[in-house]
Amino acid sequence: MRFIDLDAQYRLIAADLAERFQRVHRHGRYVLGPEVEELEATLARRVGIRACVTVSSGTDALLLALMALGIGAGDEVITSPFSFAAPAEAVALLGAQVVFADIDPRSYNLDPEAVEEVITPRSRAIIAVSLFGQCAEFDRLGAIAERHGLTLIEDAAQSLGATYRGRQAGGLAHVGCTSFYPSKPLGCYGDGGACFTADPVLAERLRRLRSHGQERPFRHVQLGINCRLDSLQAAVLLAKLPLLEQEAQTRAGVAQHYSGALAELVTVPWIAPWNASAHSCYTIATPEREALREWLGRLDIPHTVYYPEPLHHQPALAAYTDPLAQLPHAEQCCREVLSLPIHPYLDRADQDRVIAAVRRFFADRSVSVDG
Ligand SMILES: *Cc1c(COP(=O)(O)O)cnc(C)c1O
Repeated sequence: MRFIDLDAQYRLIAADLAERFQRVHRHGRYVLGPEVEELEATLARRVGIRACVTVSSGTDALLLALMALGIGAGDEVITSPFSFAAPAEAVALLGAQVVFADIDPRSYNLDPEAVEEVITPRSRAIIAVSLFGQCAEFDRLGAIAERHGLTLIEDAAQSLGATYRGRQAGGLAHVGCTSFYPSKPLGCYGDGGACFTADPVLAERLRRLRSHGQERPFRHVQLGINCRLDSLQAAVLLAKLPLLEQEAQTRAGVAQHYSGALAELVTVPWIAPWNASAHSCYTIATPEREALREWLGRLDIPHTVYYPEPLHHQPALAAYTDPLAQLPHAEQCCREVLSLPIHPYLDRADQDRVIAAVRRFFADRSVSVDG
């Protein structure tokens, strides 16, 4: 059993991929070639937004979005302490301060009320991460951002393919950022990412910044970086795009099967009625996490803790945030969460093995507690 099975998916697209790769080798435009243009147009249409600017990773997408907004020293950016580090890291790399607001423990996403409490005159932006595949509360966060003159950024690295009140993830904020890391809902065979925006000025700035700030070849109007996507990765993504929706639905079926069998034993994922999650992770919570983790390890059931430490406790961020901030929900989630295997090619027998292992753990415990 695998935590994520990319080999099963590869077999479905192998023939299409071989053809697409040959085309790249024939035209020889390995960076920002025609596949990249086709991918940007296709993704923009799919997300329902004017512009998609592909980049070389999800982290670069966040960094570029913040650069394009002119965020730097003296600014504060509000984000989630219960997340992968990239959003906070990008803020700190630009010399700005990271202000963490606590999460809603039901959805694991930023709590809009907690966000509003930490706004100061230095606040410039909010980065809302849509964790484990479920979109954050974008309507409420957008209203707060507007009221205080802040820019709302969506981190859709884990949520591509999800919807929020009928709207596609990636297009829910002023800028959306996503990742094509292999294990994400839409992954390539290496690193890749994209920014989405309806703002044409911002889109132009993003395109310039990803290629050394050039407005035309060898004319540099601002300091940029090199974070372009290559054509082979774009070809992989074009081959995989037709699978995105069905794969999300299949993962939703796995999640439903798990939740039906585990809900009385652990906290199972809560999906808001207005959301359709991409189910990029299936994450349970229990105060007995450490013992359960050890048990699953002994039975060779793949599992991971996303995330074992809240970001305000990370040494690398100490100079850019308040390490003593009180964020009790995020801290508790770090102690209790555990992610189980979920992918579209996980068969029923393996799902049942996972369920049986978790159920057995709690059955044995109740015996030892009672006896
Ligand atoms: C994976 C991820 C990123 C970073 O993406 P990379 O492509 O690995 O740089 C950013 N934010 C979140 C929430 C992620 O899960």
